[in-house]
Amino acid sequence: MTVAIPKETAEHENRVALIPETVKKLTDLGLDVVVEKEAGLASNYLDDAYIESGATIQDDRSELLKSADILISIQTPPSEDLETLSEGTILICFLWALQNEETVELLKSKSITALGMDAIPRISRAQNMDALSSMSSIAGYKSALIGANELDRYLPMMMTAAGTIAPAKVLVLGAGVAGLQAIATAKRLGAVVEAFDIRPAVKEQVESLGATFVEVPDLDDESETEGGYAKELAEDEQERQRQVIHEHAKKSDIIITTALIPGKPAPLLVTKEMVNDMHAGAVIVDLAAENGGNCELTEAGETVIENEVKVIGPINITSMLAYHASQLYSKNMWGLLNHLLDEEGKPHFDFEDEITLNTTITHEGDIISPMLKEN
Ligand code: NAD
Repeated sequence: MTVAIPKETAEHENRVALIPETVKKLTDLGLDVVVEKEAGLASNYLDDAYIESGATIQDDRSELLKSADILISIQTPPSEDLETLSEGTILICFLWALQNEETVELLKSKSITALGMDAIPRISRAQNMDALSSMSSIAGYKSALIGANELDRYLPMMMTAAGTIAPAKVLVLGAGVAGLQAIATAKRLGAVVEAFDIRPAVKEQVESLGATFVEVPDLDDESETEGGYAKELAEDEQERQRQVIHEHAKKSDIIITTALIPGKPAPLLVTKEMVNDMHAGAVIVDLAAENGGNCELTEAGETVIENEVKVIGPINITSMLAYHASQLYSKNMWGLLNHLLDEEGKPHFDFEDEITLNTTITHEGDIISPMLKEN
């Protein structure tokens, strides 16, 4: 059984799917691991470390793809790569199957068994495989650092001989995985932090990090699905929410937006009018940039300056911390492989199992994922 790790080809992608430490676990199980030359270079995992872990380095990408029984990557490989794979190959990566119909058709027609790291259910048994949470946590941390870096002010309170400087005010919108990490990071840097989320359940978590929870009056108590995700707000609730955010935005130095409703475009929380009411030099970091943005002015991958306010729309922010992002993704991948492989390193697909069922998108020419079947 050969596990192959290609070099990522997407723009801005510096991560590698498996780090040498995880490769060692696979070679100890008796699996052959082939790594494309310099696959880990951009995240500082060097070829020599892979060789020490028992892997072989392959210079020829098409040979690597042809040799794969299991192909492990971060982003979905381009279609020409998928065409090169043999029938029955197992592919594990971020697939975003709902948004990528053509790729799913290709995987189905080639009888590739494709597992989506983004489709791992957020249940406690699958926590060690939850790559989305690992990556969002990194994004939240880095968003606070980007905000601090771009702001022309201190974050902490400073008592100097030249006078006292008040701490910066940070407003975090959306207190899920990324939002909570942004709050924690901004607090550690000494800012005064406020946060808002439509799920009242997170108020306690926000407060436990030392931030103030912003209350919007009369929001529906049922703003959460059974799976713990947010539901879309009604139009009048959205309007009330915007009024409250507007008041808090006027006083904020940094706004970090992370609001997400699974399967929907990012909710619009910060309007152009609000940006115009912020002070000169204020910064907005919009983590939802790739999904349409939580701010009306966001452009993915760009910094827009409106009325001297910087609106930053970072893309693939996790690649800015590629070493640890690769480490965490690799550990999540090991969690999933451990779940699928038997003691001899052979994969088994038990579709009675909730994790395997939800994560498997295609298998033997069929669609397996209930999420896709329902769609
Ligand atoms: P999550 O589901 O854990 O959290 C999203 C939060 O938004 C939830 O708590 C939800 O209740 C809240 N929310 C939904 N609608 C809201 C509204 N109208 N007002 C306030 N809060 C609202 O998601 P996450 O994993 O923390 O990801 C957050 C965002 O970060 C997503 O947009 C994700 O795509 C993005 N992200 C970006 C990168 C990157 O590289 N740029 C990397 C990882 C995550």
